[in-house]
Amino acid sequence: MPEAEPESLGLIFIETSWKAKQLPYHKQKLALQLSNQRHFALEMQQLGHPISYVFSEKEYSLILEEIVKEYGEITVTKPAELTLRKSISNLISENKIKILDHKGWLTTSEDFISSVGDSPPWRMDKFYRHLRKSRGIMLDGDGKPVGGSWSLDDQNRLPWDGAVELPSNPEFKPDNITTEVIQMIEEKYSHHPGKIIPSNLPTSITDANRLWKWAKSSVMHWFGPYEDAMTQEHKTLFHTTVSSLLNLNRLMPKTLLDDTLKLEIPLNSKEGFVRQIIGWREFVRHVHELTDGFEIEKEDIPARNGAGWEGEWSKSRITPNVLENNLGLPPTYWGEKSGMLCLDTAVSDVVETGYAHHIPRLMVLANIGNLLGINPRELTDWFWAMFTDAYDWVVEPNVLAMGTYAVGDVMTTKPYVSGTPYIKKMGDYCGDCSLHFKKSCPISDMYWNFLEENQMHFPKNHRMAMPMRSLAKRTQQAKDTAREVTEYVRTQMSQGMELDPEILERIKA
Ligand SMILES: Cc1cc2nc3c(=O)[nH]c(=O)nc-3n(C[C@H](O)[C@H](O)[C@H](O)COP(=O)(O)OP(=O)(O)OC[C@H]3O[C@@H](n4cnc5c(N)ncnc54)[C@H](O)[C@@H]3O)c2cc1C
Repeated sequence: MPEAEPESLGLIFIETSWKAKQLPYHKQKLALQLSNQRHFALEMQQLGHPISYVFSEKEYSLILEEIVKEYGEITVTKPAELTLRKSISNLISENKIKILDHKGWLTTSEDFISSVGDSPPWRMDKFYRHLRKSRGIMLDGDGKPVGGSWSLDDQNRLPWDGAVELPSNPEFKPDNITTEVIQMIEEKYSHHPGKIIPSNLPTSITDANRLWKWAKSSVMHWFGPYEDAMTQEHKTLFHTTVSSLLNLNRLMPKTLLDDTLKLEIPLNSKEGFVRQIIGWREFVRHVHELTDGFEIEKEDIPARNGAGWEGEWSKSRITPNVLENNLGLPPTYWGEKSGMLCLDTAVSDVVETGYAHHIPRLMVLANIGNLLGINPRELTDWFWAMFTDAYDWVVEPNVLAMGTYAVGDVMTTKPYVSGTPYIKKMGDYCGDCSLHFKKSCPISDMYWNFLEENQMHFPKNHRMAMPMRSLAKRTQQAKDTAREVTEYVRTQMSQGMELDPEILERIKA
């Protein structure tokens, strides 16, 4: 659409309690979204746009139908969320809504299809290489990657060693709008999980810019080396925490990319961050769009709507479950203690803040969930509800494909599963855990049992050949122990009970 004078471009905002009733969304997420939307509306009004702000309790298409009756055909930027695209599809085919491309993306479907094809399996590194080459990003004079390789990930695996000063995260002072939103949420959505931390709510465009400025000056230098580290000392380490504002388009990926390329920071940090922004983020969005969120037509499969959080929530989507994992999401994920300090810390971070960085998400919350055999749909719905940056387009590929292998090899060659040694190496939980990492920690046993239970799913997967060979060398007694440990953990956690170190020690002895 040609750039219009603000006065001639009216903007319609919809705030409907219908949306909040779909999932038990974390209160911090509701506050972040609603306050940002209200701030954005006012910011646009100050720029001269006529604004219509609709409060409703209805579903979007019903509200839009009424709006169209009043104004005639309206234009909508293509929603990233499949839920919303589906909801307005009838209005589009009836020419009541015209769709515009969204300017918030850095790549097109053509970029995706021309580099990795239109059918799975898809691999991020190929897509990323294509973008670096076609856009001339971080290339030397011969068109080769600066630094000699497309990914410098092998330089980005330091555990937290305390060698540099940890950053202080910025705090935000809630203004009248945010305070009103918080009050409304405390009254109207008091039955939702989590709590609101007002000082962690960037809501105006000034706040968004301040967060990004902080990220550039305080964390980007060390982003690379400590990207995979986990510590009890600091929840976010050298991660930028920009995802929630990025996914709301309060920060634009183009700004982040351009600024990062100009920063004078070590190459492994720069390349690592660029790969997240033009690689992973764009990649998962294309995967989601091309697969329609992996949705499958099937008989109703019983699922606990709202992933087991009390209350009436919308029906869960039906998505694949290739490993046939069907354990209900244990109360641990809502905050009951399990006794595994790594898991309990990650969960309490999420319950308290709506955030955990990539490695606790992947290697603790998803990994342990997968080893336990939690139903991947329930786990996805939990991530979707609880993380302030979660929407279907980003959470479904990340949990169903990357985190749990529930859709098979669409995006990853093998499941991201690991035992105690990875968590011990990359985190600092084991020393403080009531479960001794060797004598009573169940995670490695659960890992071996996972391989045993799922070996029929990987007969020809060469990336799984080595773990399967190691499994074959294990004694029957070791396999029986791994099964017994897993069964004990499943039973305890399903009842919201803590693991008993003595019982685990006895089983493992
Ligand atoms: C199981 C699981 C669930 C996840 N769920 C979400 C989610 O709901 N929403 C979400 O935005 N990200 C999700 N991610 C990806 C990633 O963990 C988060 O983007 C990141 O932790 C956000 O924190 P940050 O802004 O501090 O990120 P940084 O580490 O500072 O990274 C910078 C940015 O890169 C982008 N990015 C990096 N990896 C990914 C990825 N795999 N997918 C999409 N964007 C990526 C994000 O926009 C992020 O803000 C998930 C990852 C896993 C393994």
